[in-house]
Amino acid sequence: MKVAMVIPPYRYGADPSQWITVPPQGYGGIQWAVATLMDGLLEAGREILLLGAPGSPMREGITVSAAVEKADIHAAIEEFAPDIVHDHSNTAALPPGGLRPTVSTHHLKGVPERRTNGIYLSRAQRTAAGSVSAPVIRLPVNPARYQFEEKKDDYLLFLGRVSAHKGVREAAVFAHAADVPLTVAGPAWEKDYLDALLADFPHTVRYIGEVGGRARTELIARARAQLVLSQPRGGPFGERWIEPGATVVSEAAASGTPVIASDNGCLPEIVPGVGIVLPVGRDITPRDAKRVLETLPTPQAVREVAVERWGHRTIACEYLAVYKRATSGEVWM
Ligand code: UDP
Repeated sequence: MKVAMVIPPYRYGADPSQWITVPPQGYGGIQWAVATLMDGLLEAGREILLLGAPGSPMREGITVSAAVEKADIHAAIEEFAPDIVHDHSNTAALPPGGLRPTVSTHHLKGVPERRTNGIYLSRAQRTAAGSVSAPVIRLPVNPARYQFEEKKDDYLLFLGRVSAHKGVREAAVFAHAADVPLTVAGPAWEKDYLDALLADFPHTVRYIGEVGGRARTELIARARAQLVLSQPRGGPFGERWIEPGATVVSEAAASGTPVIASDNGCLPEIVPGVGIVLPVGRDITPRDAKRVLETLPTPQAVREVAVERWGHRTIACEYLAVYKRATSGEVWM
């Protein structure tokens, strides 16, 4: 089976010839999801054309297309003649009309442009998209791409976009209450938000910017816990944020790092077993924070749960079953 994997082409840095690759150089949830799924599909013997990420590493079974303009992407898909097109671009990069069997993993919140043959990352995301029966397939993780550490250093970690909807301030409040330093890593496109965070928590927050490569995997593995306190309000994507899939949860768990999450969006569906879920808006006393840290699951336990639930082979099998439904002509909304 031949799979055309379509992601939105995003520029990387100031150099106009550079694109965010698969896997990404730094921040990039969609790119990590696709890299990991491709690991699983390759192990299952599938052949892949990757579109929308020029410069990504090639390996046996994967061809990386140089196309970035829509017309070129469409032409490259035609030339490859895939059995299935797997879209991750919110259908923005797809040829109109959908000549070939196509499925679309929705990576955002809200209602996708085209709902036909959608796949969602959580039930919360699917409900927000107005679907009741489309498949839910979780974000995968390839444990071989992560470092497992049983022994932790004394810091908590926030990894992601430094924005209000991701709950970085709530993470700082938690860390302050627990009296444990918080390392914040990720792009900060809303400078006012970052400045206020650093001004209000000068002794708790250490901001290190965007991370990639080994520094990233080590940072995740050595943290006592990763904070994913996503908030329903704020952020650049409109009024109400519903965390769709949260790539960082499976990555942390695969590294043996438990997760402290809010109950926003997908988080109450995926965090039990790998961490603790706290209701949005609940005040955290120092006693609460210390108790949460003491009752987190062990590194070994969260790693096992991550591999069992979200391992790349398991998730690739779930996708292959959905590809089969689409190639046999089934249509769902
Ligand atoms: N990430 C990274 N370096 C950073 C910040 C984030 O590699 O400095 C990665 C992180 O590991 C995850 C992705 O970017 O794979 C963010 O995806 P997530 O689904 O958590 O957040 P969203 O896509 O909603 O911003």
